[in-house]
Formats: sequence, structure tokens, C-alpha cells
Amino acid sequence: MKNTHFSTLLIDWYKSHHRDLPWRNTQNPYFIWLSEVILQQTRVKQGLPYYQKFVTTYPTVKDLAEAPLDEVLRLWQGLGYYSRARNLHTTAKDVLAQYNGNFPTNYEQLLALKGIGKYTAAAIASFAANAPIAVLDGNVYRVLARFFGNDTDIASPAGEKVFREIAQTNLPPQEAAIYNQALMEFGALQCTPQNPDCLFCPLQKDCAAYNTGKQNELPVKNKKIKIKQRYFYYLIFQSEEGKIALKKRNGKGIWEGLYDFFLIENEASYTEIALYDTLQEATGIELQQIIAKSNTFSHQLTHQRIEIIFVHIRSSELPNFKDLQWYSLEEAHLLPKPIIIANYIDQYFRKKQKNNKKTTE
Ligand code: SF4
Repeated sequence: MKNTHFSTLLIDWYKSHHRDLPWRNTQNPYFIWLSEVILQQTRVKQGLPYYQKFVTTYPTVKDLAEAPLDEVLRLWQGLGYYSRARNLHTTAKDVLAQYNGNFPTNYEQLLALKGIGKYTAAAIASFAANAPIAVLDGNVYRVLARFFGNDTDIASPAGEKVFREIAQTNLPPQEAAIYNQALMEFGALQCTPQNPDCLFCPLQKDCAAYNTGKQNELPVKNKKIKIKQRYFYYLIFQSEEGKIALKKRNGKGIWEGLYDFFLIENEASYTEIALYDTLQEATGIELQQIIAKSNTFSHQLTHQRIEIIFVHIRSSELPNFKDLQWYSLEEAHLLPKPIIIANYIDQYFRKKQKNNKKTTE
């Protein structure tokens, strides 16, 4: 499917409507890669300060490769999907070792790096070197499905093939970078998932979805995401000196490499009595040691919903559980943590400090 006006209209639109974002003013493949990884599953507004922090703290790929992983994870804190930060660090090391710190712009070489898939490889190769390779992301699928009136399921392998072909067929080889940027920006600003701005759309005349009133039916996506429900009971051991016990998460599950409290997980929520029985059984603590129990917090990830309760436990000694260590609140603040843990520590203990201050005044 080729429309001779498609790319010209898109590029013209882009020149007068695009947002001025820092990663669009550079051809440095390392900076472009950073922006692409940060912006995966993240809105521009949220990702922008992280991009600025990363390029300032690690101005070269060598700086990132040589930084401790804990420091990288701490800088990433709050952005979620922490495997991105771990892959970022691994890839930086690989680029340093394999390419002497010169970030590649070749599509095949990029694809061979950890955490870089077809989309990111095409984005870096085209933005940094104008390589004629079309990008395909959620915005691109939507624009193409609507404009060309294609109802192939975008979650199917056939959908990927069809839309990749359409994006590639309409790519003007000399203007690959701006075409890719325009396609994505158009999907983000004009041809949005809900309420696309069809009235003032330069593609309106030839748009199949507009001409048949199918904007809300396209693109077709049939894959249903299964959400797994989990129940976390975090035990916060607190020493008399005000320290708290944390441990580093190992294994391949969520939040790998981040710090959290001693965790008891269950497939269903515990009743109050069952919870205390389980606590006693698992840790040997006495009921009098329990200082407080939080309300339930809900934490939503892409494929999981976690209900979390924090139980505070007074403990004179460091419990003899694998990997738990005492940390002062200042030390804990510097550790990379899941945002729910960081916020809880911040809110609970800061509130407590404030209350203590009030009573001594
Ligand atoms: S007319 Fe509407 S549906 Fe068609 S490309 Fe423009 S914004 Fe998207």
C-alpha cells in the first residue's frame, strides 16, 4: 500500500507541529538510545527529567558503563520497569568492550545488543544516521491502520509484517529520520487513540478511517493482557536506634537488584488472625513486637496487580534472615528501591519524625 502524498503531508505537518525535545536536536546515537529506553512505556513529560539526569550524570557511554549498577538503579528510581535500567547498564558495558565506547548506528549491530529490539534499532539507525529503516511502534500502527484502512490485528505476527511493509513502502529514503519522527509524533499528537483531531488533519482527504467513520475501530488489537493478582506482606524490622532492615532482591522476578523489606507473599489476602499466625510462624516474633500495620496499597504493573501491607516490627537484633541488613534512614534513602517502598519509607518515617518533633516542642 503506497500513497504518494502520505510522507510529504506527514513531514510538512511535523515541521510546523512537532514538540521541541532535547533528543531531537542531537545525532549522538548514545543520547538517542538513552531517550528511547527511557521513553519505552513512559510518557514524555515523565521521561524528560530522567533523560536530563542521565545525560548530565553519564555524558558518555563509558561513564555509564563504569558507574556502579546500584547508582544507575537509584537514578532510575520512580520510572518503573527496572529491567530497562539493568539492560542499559549491560549494553553500555558491551558497547565499551565491543566498540570501544563508540555507539553503533548500524541496524544489525544495534539489534545484536541487549535490550535493543527492532523498534529501537530502527529509531537509532534512522535518527542518528538517516538509515532508511521504518520504525513501528503503537503510534505508527494506529496512524497506518486508520489512514490505509487496514484491519489486520496489530498484536498478531501477520499484523507486524503487514504494517512494517506499509511503513517501509512509504518511507522516502533520503528523509528517513524526519519521516519516522513525523509518523510517531503524528500518532502522539494528532491521530490520538481517543478523539483524533480529524477536523484539522492534513491527511483527512485520503484517510480511509475518516471516510468510513471507523476511527474508533482501528487499529484492531485482539490480544488480551492477563493480569496476575499478588499479595505482599512487607515486614519492616525497626531497631531501637531507628534503623530499618532491608535486603537486595535477587532472582529474575520484578524489581531485581532493588532493595525492599522482608517479604511474605501469599496467593490470597490474609485475614488479620491468619496474618499474625503466619508472621509468628515465619519469623518467630512475638505479637507485642508489632508496632503498626498499614492500610492496603495497590500497585499496578503491566501484567500484575499487587496489594501491599506493611507491618512494622520492633526488633533489638537484626533478624537472622538471609540478606537482611540494618540501614539508617539516610542510608536507605540512597539505595535503589521500588517506588512504592521509597514512597512508603519517605511518608511513614517523615510523618513520624514530624510528629515526634511536635511532641517535643
Ligand atoms: S483523519 Fe483522523 S483518523 Fe485519519 S489520519 Fe487524520 S486524525 Fe487520524
